[in-house]
Amino acid sequence: MTTRVVSHRPAVQVPDLALPDHLLRAADDRPDAPAVIDGPSGRTLTYGELRRDVRRCAVGLRRRGMRPGDVLAIVAPNSPEWLVACLGAMAAGGVVSGINPLYTADEIAPQLRDHGARFLLTIPPFLPLVQAAAAGIDDLDLLVLGEAEGATPFADVLADGDLPGGLVDPATDLALLPYSSGTTGLAKGVMLTHRAMVTNVEQMQASMALTPDDRSIAAAPFFHAVGLVVVAGVTLRAGGAVVTLPRFEVDAYLGAIAEHRVTVSIVVPPIILAMARHPAVARHDLSSLRLLGCGAAPLGAELQQECAERVGCPVGQGYGMTEAVAAIALFDPTRPVVPGSVGVLLPGVEARIVDVMSGADLGVGETGELVVRGPQLMAGYLNNPEATAATIDTDGWLHTGDLARFDADGNLFVDDRLKELVKVKGLQVAPAELEALLRTHPAVADAAVIPVPDERAGERPKAVVVATGAVDAEELLAFVAARVAPHKRITEVAFVDAIPVSPSGKILRRLLVAQDRAGALSA
Ligand code: AMP
Repeated sequence: MTTRVVSHRPAVQVPDLALPDHLLRAADDRPDAPAVIDGPSGRTLTYGELRRDVRRCAVGLRRRGMRPGDVLAIVAPNSPEWLVACLGAMAAGGVVSGINPLYTADEIAPQLRDHGARFLLTIPPFLPLVQAAAAGIDDLDLLVLGEAEGATPFADVLADGDLPGGLVDPATDLALLPYSSGTTGLAKGVMLTHRAMVTNVEQMQASMALTPDDRSIAAAPFFHAVGLVVVAGVTLRAGGAVVTLPRFEVDAYLGAIAEHRVTVSIVVPPIILAMARHPAVARHDLSSLRLLGCGAAPLGAELQQECAERVGCPVGQGYGMTEAVAAIALFDPTRPVVPGSVGVLLPGVEARIVDVMSGADLGVGETGELVVRGPQLMAGYLNNPEATAATIDTDGWLHTGDLARFDADGNLFVDDRLKELVKVKGLQVAPAELEALLRTHPAVADAAVIPVPDERAGERPKAVVVATGAVDAEELLAFVAARVAPHKRITEVAFVDAIPVSPSGKILRRLLVAQDRAGALSA
């Protein structure tokens, strides 16, 4: 028997709205209800204020020349203004691309060039960084939260006035352009329409059923789907309040939960680990929490249960990909949590498990590649039809590159990863990027990068290197660390005589992973 799993729930109704209009509907009925709260200061934007500022941002960006399809890059930590700028640009017909503010200039520059950003929003301490990244790019309008020489204060952008209707066709216009390496190669722009985003928010809300009384906390960054779509998107859609945190730090996170009486927190596995084991948990009142969710990387059943027992609320898992906006499967709150499972398919999603070698459909309980189809999938990779065609086939199936299985009740379990990706604290590290960087070192002839398990981060990248001259591991670790964001730093190096490749020249990463797990790849 083959497995072709279809969600057991009816498909959701998807309104024909642009994402900002959909997320700000609570402003009609409850304009004075809190929408976004700055965690550290408690500064609050009500729904009425948020809608006003989003509109003023849209009007102001248009006055500065934003036209439909123009990209606003945001290189800033989470804050209420991140959401104002994001929804404002989208309301003006623009496309938002969040960038990790811990990236180096050399990591930011390719993204800016790829999408040709016309606007960039940052904070004063990061202005020199983005100026370095933007060197040689003409026509980039630099905006800053606060004040700094060389950029326009974001507050001065906001303007009253009319916003013409019809700026967005939700079905076809892009709203968000996050970057993901997908199953292979370098990071690519993932084209997400307003419709796909509204759909995924509706699919998740059908499961999560948040209410206007819920308060969630955005510990995950807004440049990633977990922070922006799962936390902020679903909470605003439900009319609840989003508490923003500029960065994750255990005490500040726990303190904000207690102070703002947070009810729901969707996080990545390292935070579940902290909630289960960190001594600071005992110092804070977490009694307001009714639900913890976890996604973006593997979480073991034991840790999931340990955390639930300590915090005293259910811990459910979700599974998704940037290429599907955010979520594909999610725990079902109407059923008891199944530890270790990443949940059941969201409404309207179909899935198959296929044999990696033959492509044949597999049966219940059998592990193979997960392929999915649904209304929330990306429109494709920006400027990269080959990568799009290699990821979504002509029948509309997205090949996830994950090895997974379903049980007889439709619970999905992710067993392993087929694709070349390292997930550090839920964030992507593309092996191809680090391999290319390592090969620029004069003493490196060839290199491959594989994931190794790490208790706190989930995984870390390890380099397998063919050296041409005298070079030691320390030097290579420092070489990479000086050139990439902290989460991409390699933590181990093994030296080998040759990198194994397939007849077509592809690195046999899974062979290297198997050798490493067997202890055959030590320094
Ligand atoms: P991203 O596009 O950054 O969200 O990364 C998507 C990838 O993260 C998936 O294809 C999986 O490899 C991994 N992933 C996401 N959620 C989970 C989960 N709950 N368990 C295991 N892996 C996950």
